[in-house]
Amino acid sequence: MNNQILSGSTIGIIGGGQLGQMMSLSAKEKGYKVIILDPQPNCSAAQVSDEQIIAEYSDLNALIELAKKVDVLTYEFENVDATTIKEVSKYTYIPQGTKALEVTQNRIFEKDFLEKNDFPVVPHEVVSSIEDFTKAIDEIGAPSIIKTIRGGYDGKGQIRISSTNISGIEDLISSGECILEKTIILEKEVSVVVSRNVDGQTSLFPVIENIHRENILHLSICPARISSVMAEKIQFIAEDIANKLELVGTMCVEFFISNTDELFVNEIAPRPHNSGHLTIEACNISQFDAHILGICNLPMPKIKQFSPAIMVNVLGQHLEESRKSVFNHVEWNLHDYGKSEIKHNRKMGHITILTKNLDESINKIEKNSIWDK
Ligand code: ADP
Ligand code: MG
Repeated sequence: MNNQILSGSTIGIIGGGQLGQMMSLSAKEKGYKVIILDPQPNCSAAQVSDEQIIAEYSDLNALIELAKKVDVLTYEFENVDATTIKEVSKYTYIPQGTKALEVTQNRIFEKDFLEKNDFPVVPHEVVSSIEDFTKAIDEIGAPSIIKTIRGGYDGKGQIRISSTNISGIEDLISSGECILEKTIILEKEVSVVVSRNVDGQTSLFPVIENIHRENILHLSICPARISSVMAEKIQFIAEDIANKLELVGTMCVEFFISNTDELFVNEIAPRPHNSGHLTIEACNISQFDAHILGICNLPMPKIKQFSPAIMVNVLGQHLEESRKSVFNHVEWNLHDYGKSEIKHNRKMGHITILTKNLDESINKIEKNSIWDK
């Protein structure tokens, strides 16, 4: 194995949110030094790292300063500019490259990549003008969903179209290119985390079932309550995508399963994913450990899940009561991201529960008044 980055070396992370924090915790446990670049002083990741460079993600000079200080550089989100990464790679080792980033940060490139490689995607049309929109609606019909091609997350930059409602469309289209997708009647949403090292070895995690509220992930359940045949098919696709993207590090593939059991790849995140947080307690290595192993080109272990698990997100409106209630729940593993500003619907932490009885534990969470808000 060439290009191995061993403990004692320094890892740079662009972005200092909770994903960077959990990456850093994993790297620190393995003996690495970690430097974070983020505009927010004392951000979540900096709280558990050796050093922080306070700067915008687009600040080329600051990124070069970071690059010169580290042995390997990674990122915790997909909205870093690929051309900036190429420039910065002159100064340090960025094993992830830019292919996965370029493909996944643009919904059109992502759909094209998936279609070209025969992965199943939802029927869709590119929309750049109101005329395109009218044509696309004729093709796709309503209900459908229009999405901006860049920068969307947690359902932001999306409008659901019904035969009676198309308000807000003009503003969205004038903000940039969009994609119109057929609305799938969902039986389930699931995701798969897969990690890969520079030499091409992979660690493939079990399928996770996801339940959203207002387009924000609420619950993740692992293993997903689907047939083993379907689970194998989904895992196979995820690993195949990782190989075709020449992935290094961790990524997550989101899938839709329709009410007629049709399978679609929804989107790809070229980084650890909210639905994979339960791997910290439930598996032999977490999605963050796997990311560090991948970018450092270390051997990728076979994934073993020790117990069924559920994860529930703690948003701003759930934080205070979760912090109090945790003392009455030995089964709760509360992760508190240490964010200073508490906002409605902002991800502030999560709770993972290992359980022998998934349905019973899900019921208990759904009955807990903390998550009524
Ligand atoms: P993001 O996670 O980047 O905000 P997604 O494309 O994953 O964007 O959409 C967010 C959520 O909206 C999905 O998890 C799903 O619940 C719902 N959704 C998105 N596209 C569709 C679709 N074509 N059909 C049905 N539901 C959809
Ligand atoms: Mg999504």
